Amino acid sequence: MTSVVVWFRRDLRLHDNPALARAAESGRPVVPLFVLDEESRDVRPLGGASRWWLHESLRSLAEGLARTGLSLCLRRGPASDVLPEVVRESGAARVVWNRCYEPASAARDEKIETTLHAAGVETESYPGSLLMEPWEIETRQKEPYRVFTPFWRRLRESYRTPKRHPAPREPTPGPATAGDRLDDWGLQPTAPDWAGGLRETWEVGEAAARRRLADFIEDGVGRYGIDRDRPDLRGSSRLSPHLHWGEIGPHQVWRAAAPLIEAEAPGGSGPEALLRELAWRDFSHHLLFYSPHMEKDNWRPAFDRFPWREDPKALANWQEGRTGYPIVDAGMRELWHTGWMHNRVRMIAASFLTKDLLVHWRHGEAWFWDTLVDADLANNVANWQWVSGSGADAQPFFRIFNPVRQAQKFDPAGAYVRRWVPEIARLPDRSLHQPWEAPPNALSGAGIELGRDYPLPMVDHTAARERALSAYQQMRHP
Ligand code: FAD
Repeated sequence: MTSVVVWFRRDLRLHDNPALARAAESGRPVVPLFVLDEESRDVRPLGGASRWWLHESLRSLAEGLARTGLSLCLRRGPASDVLPEVVRESGAARVVWNRCYEPASAARDEKIETTLHAAGVETESYPGSLLMEPWEIETRQKEPYRVFTPFWRRLRESYRTPKRHPAPREPTPGPATAGDRLDDWGLQPTAPDWAGGLRETWEVGEAAARRRLADFIEDGVGRYGIDRDRPDLRGSSRLSPHLHWGEIGPHQVWRAAAPLIEAEAPGGSGPEALLRELAWRDFSHHLLFYSPHMEKDNWRPAFDRFPWREDPKALANWQEGRTGYPIVDAGMRELWHTGWMHNRVRMIAASFLTKDLLVHWRHGEAWFWDTLVDADLANNVANWQWVSGSGADAQPFFRIFNPVRQAQKFDPAGAYVRRWVPEIARLPDRSLHQPWEAPPNALSGAGIELGRDYPLPMVDHTAARERALSAYQQMRHP
């Protein structure tokens, strides 16, 4: 019997994986394949933190598949070359995969489909990475959505949880197919090994993702609506890298959270708020799917006239967490150390870069792309453009986060800043979020000299805000 190739991409799981389940159910021998494709046109190469995650995740996937008797074949190169090769070598007559929606990946997949069909090979692609396909949701005028709230309303009323696909029990293994050794791909950093903090922070892989979801449903989701904005608490799910790599799918999250909504005490907002945030992920993909230019360009062309500043030194201070604004520095250091940053702090840090420093959102997006373990093209560009004001349904440019007030509100006792900016940890609460306002005895009592032990603020926020607003006026009335 001819075999079927299951092409894994961002669906690195055995449970609820439509392509894998269908292949196994067909009774044909299954050849699981992952292609490290860094060469296809316009497909963005992975950032450093993503490469680290991918290595761990593939190891875990290979172990999971091995427990069912399947052996994961690893190949490197343009997918359009690799797939026909693997098909030939394994005598496959069918290739299946779960869809990715980024414009370059979708275009590549379409070409691959044509090539395989021309060679007499069947293909089938499945949904599974989003709650709904980008083209399944449209406005009454049959247009894509540009505003989140009506998108969410439509998704909420039309979403139907699909049938659950169990992990395959005893699939028929396909013929042994030569592949690469994971270690030879060099996805892990060597010298210097910067991944210590990532290893300490994360358990990677499907089993860890399932545990994290179960723990969050048990312990965290009830307070999610209240705590999700607090970086000093473990208020959010931290499922983002697992969702990005498909170690868990959004339907699994929905199935776990939705039944709690009715059971919630009146006024509770946890599970419903979680589903709404999950829909932001769909919305970002929807936007990028219909506006592919937004990966590199402003969604709103008016922003092409915005007078951004080229300032490599300011950018480096921001990247390294040396802006002199403790909440921004805490976020940037959390990011560097763990590969993740709390959503509220992502918004504050991104606002600081684009508005206080007037540095183009593309520089921030590129840094996040390299350092986030959940780096996701659609979510990253959509959120950067949301913060900078250049996106669809964006925060208006003139809403400029005050980093001190934000910190006082969302990190009220300073636990988050103290954790990530330990050099100022001994400052009293009153001065912690604005050390430049601390009386001299508070500074000396905490053993700090500003400018030596911790930077003075790079910019004065009030003046920076005025500068940003006049840059915005310049853009609007050139
Ligand atoms: P939870 O609050 O537990 O939310 C559950 C899930 O919903 C998340 O795992 C995520 O998949 C989704 N989600 C939540 N908020 C958003 C959002 N605003 N947009 C899209 N999806 C969301 N998220 C990424 O996954 N990858 C990125 O590259 C990314 N870049 C960002 C850049 C900036 C400047 C900003 C402001 C936000 C960015 N986000 C990104 C969105 C958000 O910060 C993260 O998804 C969230 O912090 C992940 O933590 P969590 O899993 O605990 O989220």
